[in-house]
Amino acid sequence: MWGVVMKIDCALYKRGNILKEVRAIDLSREDYFKHFKDFLYCAETDCKAKLNFVQTKNNTKFFRTFPSTEHKEGCPNEVNYDSEINHASQYDTRINISDKHIHDVLERAFSKFWNNQKTTKGFHKKRENINKIVKGTTNGGSAALFNEGIEAIGGKEPYIITRLYNQITEADEMQVRCIIGYVSSIQILSDIHAYINLTPKVENSVKVHFAEQFKANNEPEFEKMYIIQNYINSIKEIEKKIVCCCIGRVKFVKNGINILVDRSNGFTINGMNFYEIIAYMRDI
Ligand SMILES: [Zn+2]
Repeated sequence: MWGVVMKIDCALYKRGNILKEVRAIDLSREDYFKHFKDFLYCAETDCKAKLNFVQTKNNTKFFRTFPSTEHKEGCPNEVNYDSEINHASQYDTRINISDKHIHDVLERAFSKFWNNQKTTKGFHKKRENINKIVKGTTNGGSAALFNEGIEAIGGKEPYIITRLYNQITEADEMQVRCIIGYVSSIQILSDIHAYINLTPKVENSVKVHFAEQFKANNEPEFEKMYIIQNYINSIKEIEKKIVCCCIGRVKFVKNGINILVDRSNGFTINGMNFYEIIAYMRDI
């Protein structure tokens, strides 16, 4: 199985002669970028691993090992890897994706897919590599969601691989991908979860998952998911094929694959994003 990234509560601030312990809960993102960035280390004696600060939208704060630095042997703050395979990704820089980049990738994926669909009678017949045309300004790092990566430097955003829902492989597990499929149904469950199903069957299903973490980060939008549901149900009566593009983290679950979305503009339905659908439904 896959490695667990340690969440660290305490760090050592080291700058010149100054040495002091810093607690994640006492920091803000502003403080971090102004004063602490590049000067935080693992607080264990003799450990030289660098740390960075993470603050999620729902205000959880912690430190995480800076990609490409290592803890001393046996350090309790070391990243736990259960498999050799995943070890490589420890050195892979994870970079946060901006809303604009999400928007651009979704737009390109949809228009390429839409144009392609018109000429090839649906995507089941032709397994074209969509990535050839969905290009981004890349910087070698991989994409992070839920604000778990480091900030993009100089506006260079991570490359996001695009796949059709039936082309997801095990190598995509835990990676951020742009996934395209047709909407089969939408379910809003228990005020916490919502799903857009890209496959009709329960087994080997592919679902866009708006999980608890999505709700925590997008509370007002989650309250409006029923409008997205109304929209999907209303166009389902006239159109058979509704295209959904989303950017999320691929997670293999018992009955198939979930794509975990972190923000409300992380998906489009027939090329419209969340707020465009809300506006459209208000106008009709
Ligand atoms: Zn350490």
